[in-house]
Amino acid sequence: MMSDGAPRGAKNVLVTGGAGFIGSHLVERLLADGHRVTVLDDLSTGHMRNLSEAKESGRLAAHIVDVSDYARILPHFKGVQWVFHLAALADIVPSIVDPLKYHRANVDSTAAVLEAARQSGAERFIYAASSSCYGLPDAFPTPETAAIRPMYPYALTKWIGEQYVLHWAKTYKMSAVALRLFNVYGPRARTSGTYGAVFGVFLAQKLAGKPYTIVGDGTQTRDFTYVTDVADAFAAAAASDVTGECFNVGSGGTYSVNELARLLGGPTTSVPKRPGEPDQTFADIAKIKARLGWSPKVAFPDGVKRVLEHIELWRGAPVWEPETIHEATKEWFRHLG
Ligand code: NAD
Repeated sequence: MMSDGAPRGAKNVLVTGGAGFIGSHLVERLLADGHRVTVLDDLSTGHMRNLSEAKESGRLAAHIVDVSDYARILPHFKGVQWVFHLAALADIVPSIVDPLKYHRANVDSTAAVLEAARQSGAERFIYAASSSCYGLPDAFPTPETAAIRPMYPYALTKWIGEQYVLHWAKTYKMSAVALRLFNVYGPRARTSGTYGAVFGVFLAQKLAGKPYTIVGDGTQTRDFTYVTDVADAFAAAAASDVTGECFNVGSGGTYSVNELARLLGGPTTSVPKRPGEPDQTFADIAKIKARLGWSPKVAFPDGVKRVLEHIELWRGAPVWEPETIHEATKEWFRHLG
C-alpha cells in the first residue's frame, strides 16, 4: 500500500464530467479498484453532491473548471495515466436551440482534453461516445459498422468528438477508444432542466402521482443499459490495449416504453410521436464482448427495481404534463418535422 491507501499498481486517472450521472458512477468504480482520481467538471449539469460518497475514499480530487479551456486544464493532467472524457452537454432540444454552445462543449472540449492528454503523455484515453450517431438505423441489433446519421446537433457534436479521438489515435499514436453508449439509466441520472430521457420524466411523474406521458403508442423500444454496467465497460476499456476502435455499450436487449411504465406501475397518458426518434435502439454488443471481454450484468427489471429504491433522488425534478411537453418540444417539431 502507498501512503494514500492506493494499492500497488494503482493508476492516476482523470475523469472529465465526473460530477455528472455516469461520471460519478465511474469515479466510484475507479476508486473501488484502488486508483487515484481527479475530476474536472464545470457543474453545468453535474453536482458535487454526486461525489459525496466518493470523497470519503481520500483518493479523489475534484476541480471546477470548463474543460474547453486548454490552458486551465493542462496542469491537472500532470502524471495522469488514464483519461476518461465524459464531460458534455447531453440534451436534444437545447442542442437544436443553441448549436454553437453544443459545439463548444462537445467538440472544442474534446480537442482540448485530447491535446492535454497527449502533451502530458497519458497512456490511455477513453471517450464517452453516443449511440445517437446511428440516427434511425436500418439494422437491429445495430453493429458499429452501421451508417452514421446524426439527426440533431447533440448527436452530430458527439460524433465529431469521436472522430477527433480516433484521429488522435491514428495521427499521434495515442492509445484511445470510443464507447458508444445506449440509453444509460440509474440513480443520479440528470433530473433538472430540460425535457429529456424517459426515466427522469416518468419517475418525477410517479412521485407527483401524475400519469406517465408515453410518446406515441409506447411500443418503441430502447436499449436501456444500467449505469454500473457502463462504468464496468469504461474500466474494461482502460485496462485493455485495443486502440483506434469504437465499441457499442448496450444491455443485450431492448425494452418498450410500455414495459417500463408497467414495471414502474401507475396510469399513463399519450403525447405525440416526435420526428427524428428511432422506433428502436438495440446495440449489437458482439464486438465489445469479444475484444474487451465485457458483458452487461444487470437485467432490466432488476435495474428498474434498483432505480425505484432511489426514487427520492427525483423529488424536485420537473413534473412534465402533456401541455408543458408540447411547449418544450416546439423547436424539435419545427426543425426535425
Ligand atoms: P451528465 O450531464 O450527468 O454529465 C455530464 C457532465 O459533464 C456534467 O457533470 C457536466 O457538469 C459536465 N460538463 C459539461 N460541459 C462541461 C465542460 N465544458 N467542462 C467541464 N464539465 C462539463 O450526463 P451523463 O448522462 O452522465 O453523460 C455523460 C457522458 O455520456 C456524456 O458525454 C454523454 O454525451 C454521454 N452519453 C450519455 C448517454 C446517456 O444515456 N446518459 C448516452 C450516450 C452518451
